Amino acid sequence: MFPTFKINQVIKAEKGVELTGSISSDSFNGHKWVDDKWGGSLRVNNSIVFGRWHKQNSDWKFIVDPKDPIKVDFSAGQEVELIDGYWGERVELVIDKSIEWKKDTYLATDKSDHDHCFFCWATIAEFENRQYMLANNREVVCLHCFKTYVENGSFDFIIYPKE
Ligand SMILES: [Zn+2]
Repeated sequence: MFPTFKINQVIKAEKGVELTGSISSDSFNGHKWVDDKWGGSLRVNNSIVFGRWHKQNSDWKFIVDPKDPIKVDFSAGQEVELIDGYWGERVELVIDKSIEWKKDTYLATDKSDHDHCFFCWATIAEFENRQYMLANNREVVCLHCFKTYVENGSFDFIIYPKE
């Protein structure tokens, strides 16, 4: 479904893991996902690994974010899916079974009276979408998106405004 990255070489450098290889496409549905020095992510089974792309002649190097915990053992010859960084963060919420979800009720604080759904940007506040889902005590997701994407394992949130 997503473009793929065929890994030719895995280098465990001091600053992190570096993967070199070739990609099937730098775009998804006509939108560019890979370019020199762009952030990106790789999907390996139920995990997302974040990092940055670097152009190398006709090949690409992907440097895994050293802040990202090592979730995956990469190997030469492996083919993984590539997703841009923004959507990768959202795909992770759908596929990563280690994420802890909890149902919560929005309460305004002195600092803020609303939040936004990580998928659809709907307002989550005391007067709107008051019940929501919280992922890893971090991202907030409206109940509609939780059901539609997370529970159904759907990536249909990857849409772009019509140009
Ligand atoms: Zn939503």
